[in-house]
Amino acid sequence: MTLSDANALLRSIPAMDDLLNAPWAAEFSSSLGRENVKKIIEETLDEIRREIGAGNSPTKVGVTSGGVKAGLPVEELVVIRATTLLRLKSSSTLKPVVNATGVVIHTNLGRAPLADEAIAAVNEIAGTYSTLEYDPGKGGRGGRNVHVEWLLCRLTGAEAALVVNNNAAAVLLALSATASGRELIVSSGELVEIGDSFRIPEILSFSGAKMIAVGCTNSTRISDYRNAITENTAVLLKVHPSNYRIEGFVKTTAREELAELAAERGLVFMEDLGSGLLGLLGVPGPLGADLANRECSVRNCLEAGSGIVTFSGDKLLGGPQIGVIAGSKKLIDKMKSHQLLRALRVDKMTLAAFEATLRLHLSGRQGSIPVIGMIETDKPALLEMARRLCRMLKRTAACNAVPRTVNPGAGDFTIAVVETEDAIGGGSFPTDLLPGFGVAISSPSFSAETLAAGLRTAFVPVIPAIREGRVILHVRTLLPGDEKLIAASFVSALSRDVAG
Ligand SMILES: *Cc1c(COP(=O)(O)O)cnc(C)c1O
Repeated sequence: MTLSDANALLRSIPAMDDLLNAPWAAEFSSSLGRENVKKIIEETLDEIRREIGAGNSPTKVGVTSGGVKAGLPVEELVVIRATTLLRLKSSSTLKPVVNATGVVIHTNLGRAPLADEAIAAVNEIAGTYSTLEYDPGKGGRGGRNVHVEWLLCRLTGAEAALVVNNNAAAVLLALSATASGRELIVSSGELVEIGDSFRIPEILSFSGAKMIAVGCTNSTRISDYRNAITENTAVLLKVHPSNYRIEGFVKTTAREELAELAAERGLVFMEDLGSGLLGLLGVPGPLGADLANRECSVRNCLEAGSGIVTFSGDKLLGGPQIGVIAGSKKLIDKMKSHQLLRALRVDKMTLAAFEATLRLHLSGRQGSIPVIGMIETDKPALLEMARRLCRMLKRTAACNAVPRTVNPGAGDFTIAVVETEDAIGGGSFPTDLLPGFGVAISSPSFSAETLAAGLRTAFVPVIPAIREGRVILHVRTLLPGDEKLIAASFVSALSRDVAG
């Protein structure tokens, strides 16, 4: 591009006022505010000027930025790029997606979808004043914790319980109250990074406790703990190996032995359980029995002698993001009066959702909590769901077949029911896969990656898995109504692929 071409292009950029007053821009002023619309148009113009300055003709660059065809007048390019940005900024980024990954507790997708009863409770409390910290009988200040403490004690057998923002906060508060300025002994095999960067050693350091790691990665004996105890030791800590499992020769120390040692030496025995299993999961078949043997419920851990246990509310419990500390009343009382609690306390909407979820567990209706229902769904029911989804997608593909003159082969879909391996996720049962079913889609005319990207970026994003060159939609993690959303996103993925 010559200098005079560049200058001509720069001169053809319309004036800001004209752009701002054009109907396509004015339309966004009501939602974004005129100043913000102006800012976005300015950014668009700057970008186009930079491209011209660098010797690129933006009307050609436009081909790669947003699918704009070459040879476009600059004014049109401005409008297309600015409206794309304005639309993006006008819509929320936190929005519902369809989880077709088969991973039930998916941290990136918001972990546990709430039960209807929990959603209703949030709805009731969110827009009104409430008894959050008010005791109507006394006519004065009450405590936030009272709303869930009794329920947690009944469900776990604990003497006392306290809730905070999440399990990381629960570990932090529990250790700050019991081990600050003192020593804490933990097995080096348990010093792991859990999920999205929960690193036990770092949380420990914030609590002011000095960490003494004992044993080696695959073997820690009770004598290792005993030999490390000094007059400065306050806590023995056991951490649940949530998202990893060391296979082969492994020697871990039983909680009963640790509890006995802690009692003998006047120490606190604390356990970070992570997943917060409240009762038996009704997983069908031999896998169910196997899981029951390995994952300790909160109640069993406390009965085996753990003084304090910490766990999340949005893993196997199936509630909102929250952290629970349950166990000895004497220790929990110390945490209740700790200043740190003020920074970690729980919001009213979370408490409302959590209380309602706990009541479902208490009344034996935990099967209606989505994550528990999904984990307990048996193979015949999953097969039926997969067959229904398969039929729907075959119909959708047939009705939306693109004429072969436009895109040869676009109608050639292979859509079939397949067996899948699903997972509980969220660090629970790391190596146990649940047998399930799904629908596999493949086509010679576009890759699994292209189809998956089309589904993920549809109006309602559908998040699938990809296996052996096929898109797989696992049905275990679908919620009621998701099948229709998948069909709609499938249509949009097809039409976009053809247009692009
Ligand atoms: C998941 C998990 C955590 C972190 O819990 P959050 O609720 O995400 O803060 C900590 N410890 C263990 C053992 C876990 O499994």
